[in-house]
Amino acid sequence: KRNLDNSAYKINNIALTEAHSSLIHDLKEAERAALIDPLTRLWNRAGGQNLLDREWDYAIRRGTPLSVAMVDIDHFKQINDSFGHCIGDQVLQKVSETLLGSLRTFDVVSRWGDEEFLIILPGCEKRDLYQALERLMSAVQNLKMKTDIGALETTVSIGAATIFPKSDTDVATFIKLVDMAMYEAKEQGRNQFKVASKPDYYELAI
Ligand code: GH3
Ligand code: MG
Ligand code: MG
Repeated sequence: KRNLDNSAYKINNIALTEAHSSLIHDLKEAERAALIDPLTRLWNRAGGQNLLDREWDYAIRRGTPLSVAMVDIDHFKQINDSFGHCIGDQVLQKVSETLLGSLRTFDVVSRWGDEEFLIILPGCEKRDLYQALERLMSAVQNLKMKTDIGALETTVSIGAATIFPKSDTDVATFIKLVDMAMYEAKEQGRNQFKVASKPDYYELAI
């Protein structure tokens, strides 16, 4: 099981995809630091985007599937407002750790925005995606975060999709699709996931 101390992808002896290893290999120490979020030690958005582009290319070349999930913490602003920014930071760290801990070692978690995480699941088909999402949801739900002010609970909303990238598909459109699924999960009451379908992608791509 990974934890945040070794999750910043500094260690080479955990199983990573070829795309993931190639990114780490290509970067010098300082360049790598610029792609890591200091609070959570996850890849930041630039790092996540870089990796996504690499995984996308690998999937095209190999004809393998790629699943992506956008995870957003529910009502996070309330945590900040009620308990302070420092507790908010602790929640971000704890959720990051939990997401990493419930995924396969070659899945990627990046901090895409404020309290939003982009997860890349290389080689993951739709059936496996559902399992991964169920696991993520329950890991977060079961989380009793030990903070300075006691145990805190939180939930997340997730949008996700699976694709077999081809030369006529485009990664930006795919991410937009995943993002829309996440907003749908929010609108339908939060604390749930929505998986977008293939026709949704082609409708969006037109
Ligand atoms: P929703 O359920 O719709 O997602 O609501 P939300 O409150 O989670 O989302 P919203 O976008 O309104 O609020 C996100 C908040 O995250 C606002 C911002 O102040 C806070 N935030 C962003 N980055 C950090 C950070 O690094 N630490 C802390 N503590 N808060 C942060
Ligand atoms: Mg939120
Ligand atoms: Mg958000």
